[in-house]
Amino acid sequence: MIYDIIVIGAGPSGLTAAIYGKRANKNVLVLEAKTYGGQIINTLDIENYPVEEHISGFEFATKLYNQVKNLGAEIVFEKVVEIKNIGSEKEVITTKNTYKAKTVIIATGSENRKLGLENEEELVGKGLSYCATCDGAFYKKKKVAVVGGGNTALEDALYLADVAEKVYLIHRRDSFRGEESTIDQLKEKENIEFIYNSNVTKLNANERLESIEVTNNDGTIQTIPVNGLFVAVGRIPENENFKQLIQVDDSGYIVAGEDCHTNVEGIYVAGDNRTKEVRQLVTATSDGAVAATAAIKYINNH
Ligand code: NAP
Repeated sequence: MIYDIIVIGAGPSGLTAAIYGKRANKNVLVLEAKTYGGQIINTLDIENYPVEEHISGFEFATKLYNQVKNLGAEIVFEKVVEIKNIGSEKEVITTKNTYKAKTVIIATGSENRKLGLENEEELVGKGLSYCATCDGAFYKKKKVAVVGGGNTALEDALYLADVAEKVYLIHRRDSFRGEESTIDQLKEKENIEFIYNSNVTKLNANERLESIEVTNNDGTIQTIPVNGLFVAVGRIPENENFKQLIQVDDSGYIVAGEDCHTNVEGIYVAGDNRTKEVRQLVTATSDGAVAATAAIKYINNH
């Protein structure tokens, strides 16, 4: 069996690509390594997507997933480990199977960047989290720290300030990357303490996280007792398994313009894992439509 389109990733861009593929009467397989929805599933309230004034990320993703299922796309939960370009056909290899397709759309998004500290992985769920809106409620009236200086870190700190007793916001420079209006809101919160020019250098734990070591750029070290640490230091595109075949930039993003074409004919990229200026829900779904339309055109011309 040869699929017309294999979409890798069931986030907003991949699922939108599947809608466009199915509506053009193509047979579409969506392969997803984890769960449907991508990173939007962690957003409590989406306010900037046209038509819906408020919708949770979970509801948005579930509606989209059901829409794709109802259109008849196949969705299989398997991790793709390689794509092979065999002339006009592509082979998509997962940990369990090999699938064939005329075209492939890579919509794998991105994953959380880690701090790279010794026991970071073991402490996930035991005081360390990459998602304030998912885990913040566990820290009611407790002490937490947020590390990072982008919009995610700022929004996490703002959210946690209403839940936790105390929030330390730790950033490696003396100015934030995130939006000025959010910074202004943060400064109004009495329970937020800003720690600039500093990095979290050690996680002290006894089963659960107990304190963090924070090192200032001048070499001064302080130990801060916290119940939770929220890491928000950006994201890394999930393109590791495609680098052999597909051109990526120095940061690992697949090189593509707004037309979503990669360097390989018949393989397209959609969403946060491609080079682009604006990484938002609306641009992710837009990419899905653009990539699928390009794939449909390619199929019809070959
Ligand atoms: P980001 O903008 O890339 O910011 C990452 C932050 O982490 C930066 O401040 C960076 O410091 C810091 N950082 C990176 N590596 C670090 C390390 N190893 N140790 C300590 N700090 C480190 O990532 P983001 O905040 O996740 O946002 C990603 C994109 O989504 C952005 O375009 C953002 O605007 C967007 N976003 C938008 C909204 C919204 O519109 N409401 C909400 C969330 C995110 P430096 O500043 O020194 O590089």
